Amino acid sequence: KANWLRETEEVAAIDRIVVRLRSWPMGAAARTALEQAAIDLDRLEAMERRAIAAVDAGAAQAARDLLYGPVHIGLHDGVTRASARFKAVVRADLDEQIAAARSRADRWDDLAQALLLLTGLLFLGVLYFVLSRRVARPLTHMTAVVNRLARRDYAADLPDDRRRDEIGEVTRAVRLFRQDSIERERLERERDEDRRIKDLIARMMHRMQGCDSEAELAEVVACYLPQAFPDLAGQLFVHDQAHGRLLSIGRWKDPVLTLADFDPASCWALRRGHPHRSNQRGEDVCCQHLDDPEGRDALCVPLTAQSGVVGMLYLEAATAHGHYAERELYLDLITENVGLSLANIQLRATLSALATRDPLTGLANRRHLDESFNRERALAESRKTPLAALMIDIDHFKRFNDEHGHDAGDMVMQHVAHTLMAHASEGDLACRYGGEEFTLLMPGADAEQAAARAEAIRLTIRKVALAHRGRSLPPVTVSIGVAAFPEQSDAASLLSVADGALLAAKAAGRDRVVVAGGARPFDPGRIDAAA
Ligand code: GH3
Ligand code: MG
Ligand code: MG
Repeated sequence: KANWLRETEEVAAIDRIVVRLRSWPMGAAARTALEQAAIDLDRLEAMERRAIAAVDAGAAQAARDLLYGPVHIGLHDGVTRASARFKAVVRADLDEQIAAARSRADRWDDLAQALLLLTGLLFLGVLYFVLSRRVARPLTHMTAVVNRLARRDYAADLPDDRRRDEIGEVTRAVRLFRQDSIERERLERERDEDRRIKDLIARMMHRMQGCDSEAELAEVVACYLPQAFPDLAGQLFVHDQAHGRLLSIGRWKDPVLTLADFDPASCWALRRGHPHRSNQRGEDVCCQHLDDPEGRDALCVPLTAQSGVVGMLYLEAATAHGHYAERELYLDLITENVGLSLANIQLRATLSALATRDPLTGLANRRHLDESFNRERALAESRKTPLAALMIDIDHFKRFNDEHGHDAGDMVMQHVAHTLMAHASEGDLACRYGGEEFTLLMPGADAEQAAARAEAIRLTIRKVALAHRGRSLPPVTVSIGVAAFPEQSDAASLLSVADGALLAAKAAGRDRVVVAGGARPFDPGRIDAAA
């Protein structure tokens, strides 16, 4: 009984547990098992209470029958089975719930992992976007541009980048580098062009120094100027002092605007002594030697030397892009040197004329004759071509001078010289041999032709009526000796043989033509036949 009382406490506790269990959510099977156990427990408890009451009443056997009877044992087994079923059901429930919870947890886990993966992918995507758009692409583009710039392809450029990061700074550096390179390239081009033109001018100067004539100088200028300034056409003019004209002696690239022969007064550059740029659009006055319906620019640069204006360099645009700007320095250099060369050539020509011409008559002098005679003689001998010479002497000239004065005599000399020149064919050389004696050297002429020419000269001189200081002068006569190679003479002694014929003419009474060899006067009747 004491044990039972003690256990009663425990049973009460179990009851409380059962009461609490009832409030739990559980499946129908568990609840049925629990209710069944609770009922059985209540009936057991009631039975035991009855047994205790029987014990208390002294009916130990009845109590024993109650406690160990089949009903109690059946109830006891029932409780044990119900509780076992309850346990099993609850465990099964729990297992089920745990499995469900686990599967739920697994699902959440999968979801979480999927989300994590998605976030990772998103992050990578953003990273890729940022790297490719903001780093890789600009860097690739920049590399391509830098490579092209390194190959001097300056069409390559980077867009202006205001980014404040390293790529922005590198972009700005590359852009600066490009601008520097373009500027350097431009300067290099200018320097190369400058060197090219200066080289050309230097070469042109060397060639000009070797020029012997205006024609040669014009050829050099026309060869080099179009190389130095391919977009400019031009002409080189020389100042013909004797006739007061500007004459073109050379041209290049077909200049079309200027006359080739004009009065210096019609050129503003020559009038002012400074380069003049004519412009038909009304920006400056136009030279009158220009005729330009299209209004193109033309540049006249006077060529001057100590002797004054010696010529003019004329330039005009040969193409639509032809221009003179930034070329003044070169043009100064060129015109100064062309001017000096031209003056030099003219000076040399003057000196040579002085050295080889007779100032009174303008004919070649004796020195010139000797040089020419040696050359013509050698040619005639080697080519076996005829060569004739006339020796002409004015008759009684001493007397003429005495009677009419030396000035009148000089005038006669000039008249004779003029007649000689008028009768000289191309290739002939008329010269003053000395005193009042003249020579006409006629390469290619035989004795017959020479004699005919001599007779014509004699008659012309004789025929012209001269007057001096208002006084008419008597007719002038000449005696002429004729000799020809190979008919009358060997080539070397042609002049002395002709001189011999002249002496014969004088001896025969003057005012006549004598052909060497025959020592007889030339028969004027043969002139017509020869002519
Ligand atoms: P002949 O008919 O024999 O030739 O007689 P000539 O008087 O012409 O010959 P001569 O040799 O005796 O005289 C030549 C004269 O020519 C002497 C000189 O006064 C003259 N004379 C020579 N050169 C010039 C010149 O440049 N001007 C002038 N006015 N007279 C000159
Ligand atoms: Mg004489
Ligand atoms: Mg004489």
